[in-house]
Amino acid sequence: MALSKLDQLYRQVILDHSQHPHHEGTLEDSTDQIELINPSCGDVIQLQLRIEEDRVQDIRFSGHGCTISRASASMMTDVMIGKTKAEAFELTQGFSELVQGKEVSDVEALGDAALLNGVAKFPARIKCATLSWKALEKALAAAGQDEN
Ligand code: ZN
Repeated sequence: MALSKLDQLYRQVILDHSQHPHHEGTLEDSTDQIELINPSCGDVIQLQLRIEEDRVQDIRFSGHGCTISRASASMMTDVMIGKTKAEAFELTQGFSELVQGKEVSDVEALGDAALLNGVAKFPARIKCATLSWKALEKALAAAGQDEN
């Protein structure tokens, strides 16, 4: 299967995120943390978040996983830092729709993660792509409950 120039570019961006992930590590002053596992691939992710004033102030991720799961976690942190909890939750929904091959109204809001739309053609990899986003979603839900 020949790759188009655009596909090659997408692959390169995905590889760059996986090999040199943004915001990998740990947070000294995290307010929330979560671990999530993707049993079908063996991906494990830990997120540490600092959620203050209803906003995702900072995120670090750690763990191990395949190229797609690592790249996706890196892309996720890029778009989420600085967002309100409601905005962040909306982005997780948009990303979930994207990787299922659905139309997303504001695809640009997803940043580099929009390049993972090709995952829709590989159902086995969808869970790799969504792992870090699901982890964030769970952490946001848990953080909301603390305040009630
Ligand atoms: Zn994986």
